[in-house]
Amino acid sequence: MTVTTDLPTDLLRRQDPQMADVLAGERQRQATTLQLIAAENFTSPAVLAALGSPLANKYAEGYPGARHHGGCEYADLAERVAVERAKALFGAEHANVQAHSGSSAVLAAYAALLRPGDTVLAMGLPYGGHLTHGSPANFSGRWFDFVGYGVDAESGLIDYEQVQQLAHAHRPKAIVCGSISYSRHPEYSAFREIADEVGAYLIADAAHPIGLVAGAAAPSPVPYADLVCATTHKVLRGPRGGMILCGREFAERVDRAVFPFTQGGAQMHTIAAKAVAFGEAAAPAFTTYAHRVVSNARELAGALEDLGFAVTTGGTDTHLITADPAPLGLDGPAARGLLAAAGIVLDTCALPYGDQRGIRLGTAAVTTQGMGEGEMLRIAALFASALRGEAAKTRAEVGELTFEFPPYSA
Ligand SMILES: *Cc1c(COP(=O)(O)O)cnc(C)c1O
Repeated sequence: MTVTTDLPTDLLRRQDPQMADVLAGERQRQATTLQLIAAENFTSPAVLAALGSPLANKYAEGYPGARHHGGCEYADLAERVAVERAKALFGAEHANVQAHSGSSAVLAAYAALLRPGDTVLAMGLPYGGHLTHGSPANFSGRWFDFVGYGVDAESGLIDYEQVQQLAHAHRPKAIVCGSISYSRHPEYSAFREIADEVGAYLIADAAHPIGLVAGAAAPSPVPYADLVCATTHKVLRGPRGGMILCGREFAERVDRAVFPFTQGGAQMHTIAAKAVAFGEAAAPAFTTYAHRVVSNARELAGALEDLGFAVTTGGTDTHLITADPAPLGLDGPAARGLLAAAGIVLDTCALPYGDQRGIRLGTAAVTTQGMGEGEMLRIAALFASALRGEAAKTRAEVGELTFEFPPYSA
């Protein structure tokens, strides 16, 4: 076997044409359909280069300077750079960049602060809470006693009086703020006050907005929350992974909760890729990007409202839009199916009222492609023709739009 420093795709094609076809197909799918899944983005070629590097081969249990394996000099460098960049980017005293995913970060955050059986107050799943916020199908719902807060059925906004009442009634050990679909900024100071009133820890699950925080397009939970859990692959545009930010006083507990309590060896190639992404997010261009993500989402939300969608909360402050297609005579799954047939990819989601599902979408990926407000109006027009059932015509127009804004150059 010959070892090369880079692994070109034609090498894979020679060795394993079956899998090369799969990867080429996915690349083509991403480049020729519209990626509106709110949690997705396009990482840079530099991030992909780090992910595909031989650092993937390295075992590095433990932390820089204190590993259980030999040969960690470059692994240590990679992790130290990632940690320093994360701390600087978010103004945090401590960063753990080893969490394998957003869910692993939340698991470790709970492990750092809670014991099984403790009560936790988090957004209820029907209102946009994540699986790790108390779903009976998830460890969180089995090992902790979750109480769910909701949103106001009319406005779709978090009802802070309800959060406060539930906190006083249930005396949770921790309060979690963060959601998979809430399109407005949480009021971190209000959550902090409520947590202090009842002596609870405050955990911010900022998996979605952390990229906007990096680009100064959303308020930061770092000054308010005891622990901030996040992903690195959503708006932040890094590799698939998680991290935890916290003050010095929680540093040791958090590190031990990640390794050895909930994880084994760190994925060093992913950590290197996180460092690359943090470096990109610290550049002025990322601030411009984050603000464009939000202005694009606002434009698209307004255009969807003009088409007849009922947009939850009447708009958005973030990359996220949730909307009810009921006024168009459709539910979320039906709308998603018609859009998918036309090459427009998004999710369904729970709505704050009733049993009917809506749609959830985001502008992180299309903004990375370079699309702006004019393209958001084009996308809304594509929604209209797709929902009229004009799949083939819309699919062709989606092809034209994505051809103008390729995510990766050939
Ligand atoms: C995406 C998300 C997660 C989980 O991230 P994974 O990497 O998919 O495990 C956790 N919490 C919230 C609020 C999220 O949006």
